[in-house]
Amino acid sequence: MGTMALTEREKWEAVTRCNKAYDGLFFYAVKTTGIFCRPSCKAKTPVGKNVLFFDTVEAALAAGFRPCKRCRPDMPAFDPEQDLVRSAQAILRQVYTKPVDLNIIARQLNTSPSHFTRLFKRSTGITPRQYIMNSRVKKACSLLRQTNAGILEIACLAGFQSASNFHRCFKEQTGLTPQEYRKGGDGEP
Ligand SMILES: [Zn+2]
Repeated sequence: MGTMALTEREKWEAVTRCNKAYDGLFFYAVKTTGIFCRPSCKAKTPVGKNVLFFDTVEAALAAGFRPCKRCRPDMPAFDPEQDLVRSAQAILRQVYTKPVDLNIIARQLNTSPSHFTRLFKRSTGITPRQYIMNSRVKKACSLLRQTNAGILEIACLAGFQSASNFHRCFKEQTGLTPQEYRKGGDGEP
């Protein structure tokens, strides 16, 4: 991915804030310890003058630094939070057309509903509930355009529990009623 237009200042900001959004974009190494980290590493923030930035793990290793045991910059897949969110999305994609109990899903993921919701929101920008709603509206959109099924039937197939809830959510996301969307309005979910 490279560092694109990241300035040293921006990188330093990311390091001091342990900003996860920068993980993978660059790595920082600490001259005094000989160790390099991901920007999000929770290790103590180093003194600025001791820090070197690298675009890749390979470059940091080549410069003689060792990967941090805590944030494991050498293991791109090591990210338990991301794993949890990805698993959650996979489950939600399976179940969104049915009534969804987030407590059950959190239990399947071995976490609490509040922790699950917080991680999900941080990673995707929306709550699991919104994710479910978005999936339902998308499903309804394709059914409206690709089938002749009645509006009520489509609401039901897409997982909405009532026609009024369907209309409200649909309009919120597309700016159109289901009928208008079917006639070819160009709203996008
Ligand atoms: Zn680290």
